[in-house]
Amino acid sequence: MAEHPTPKAGITAIAPYVGGKSKVEGVSRVIKLSSNENPWGPSPKAVAAFNAQAASLHRYPDGGHAALREAIARVEKLPENELICGAGSDELLGLTVHAYAGPGDEVLFTEHGFLMYRIYTQANGATPVTAPESNLSADVDALLAAVTPRTKIVFLANPNNPTGTVIPFSEIRRLRAGLREDIILGLDAAYAEYLDHADYEAGHSLVHEGTNTIVFHTFSKIHGLPALRLGYAHAPAHIIDILNRVRSPFNVNSAALAAGIAAIEDTAYVAEMRTRNAGELARVSDAIRAYGYNVVPSVTNFILVHVGAKAKALNEHLAARGLIIREVGNYGLPEFLRISIGTAEENDLLLAAVADFAKSHAA
Ligand code: PMP
Repeated sequence: MAEHPTPKAGITAIAPYVGGKSKVEGVSRVIKLSSNENPWGPSPKAVAAFNAQAASLHRYPDGGHAALREAIARVEKLPENELICGAGSDELLGLTVHAYAGPGDEVLFTEHGFLMYRIYTQANGATPVTAPESNLSADVDALLAAVTPRTKIVFLANPNNPTGTVIPFSEIRRLRAGLREDIILGLDAAYAEYLDHADYEAGHSLVHEGTNTIVFHTFSKIHGLPALRLGYAHAPAHIIDILNRVRSPFNVNSAALAAGIAAIEDTAYVAEMRTRNAGELARVSDAIRAYGYNVVPSVTNFILVHVGAKAKALNEHLAARGLIIREVGNYGLPEFLRISIGTAEENDLLLAAVADFAKSHAA
């Protein structure tokens, strides 16, 4: 048999990430509620900034992301030299593992944590370790109990995907205080902008207080720009310096940089999106509960619904009507379905289809 090149240890163990579907065979109008996107799209100002880039496609982007970092710093009140931009927060999560964990090291996250934590860990030859959750929420004691001398990074999405749950900042503080100082705490704030609670904090104060916390943000959710692949991280300058050493020189393209500036500056648009989502989130959650399903209380732009043994059947029922949602068996949640919040019209169609199913499958 011919020899062929073999990848590094751990790579073939990776189960490739499968994104939300966007097509159904034989259905012309598809409603995509499978990837936690902003159904109203980005700020028109971001679209205009994107379009304006067409005139300079023959120029390289600014590899230092200076204008975008300046805008993020100004709007979010963060120091410019503590920011790094990436092609989606995915890239920055990956760079963190790449720079800080390898064979023999452990990367810790929760049982139903975002799948990319595991994938980047395996891709770098490090060992993924999971801590149990309690009640579909991160459990700080379980995380601390799973730390070993080999732990290098702890990733925690707060709020978490796919559960939609959040833990109080006092718990995040307790987690940081219980971790050794040489362990990075990576706080993934992909859905942070959907919260307006007085007691919610993404974790920026922990970045300032120590030397070992990173907060990740994305432009793919409330800012509505997933197609452009844009995210940023806030970390102490010594970590930013390390991440800058391992990234590609032009990792963020010019259109993403320009649209990102316009998006982050349009705070009125972000506030409007937060309000619209909150209204639809409450309406969809209440209606689905009224049809007899348990909906995990969510603070995000998606819900996790406990359907039980009929989860697959409900998913197929919705797909046949062009409603694409997400099965979460690969997150260890085979009895659940994850549904992104759509526009009011999309949600009406979703609720009508769920009502139909509930009626015909009543116990
Ligand atoms: N973290 C979490 C918790 C997410 O849900 C997502 C998107 N699915 C990401 C990170 C990655 O977002 P992006 O790479 O689009 O910025």
